[in-house]
Amino acid sequence: MPFPALASAILATITLCYVGLCAGQPFAACRKCRGFGFKVTINRRGKAKRGKGCRRCHGHGIRIRRGRHLWNLWRRTHERGTRPTPATRTRTESRPWL
Ligand SMILES: [Zn+2]
Repeated sequence: MPFPALASAILATITLCYVGLCAGQPFAACRKCRGFGFKVTINRRGKAKRGKGCRRCHGHGIRIRRGRHLWNLWRRTHERGTRPTPATRTRTESRPWL
C-alpha cells in the first residue's frame, strides 16, 4: 500500500518542479543547434566554423518549453473567453497590436 502513495508523491514533486521551471525559465536552448542558432561545422584543418543557420529556431537558439507553450495557449483562450477585467483591459490597451 505505501508504494502508490510514494509514487504519486514523486510524480507530484516532479510535476511541481517542472511547473516552477516553466514559470522561471520559459525558454531553453534549441535542441538541434544547442543554443548556437547555427550549425557548427569542422573544416579540414579541424577548426570549428559557423555553418548554416538553424531552421528549427530560425537562428534564435532558444525554444519555448512545452509546458509554458501549453500554459500560454490556455491563458490566451481563457482571456478571449472571459469578460475583460481591469488587469486584462489595461494589458490590451497598452499593447493594441495583440
Ligand atoms: Zn536551433
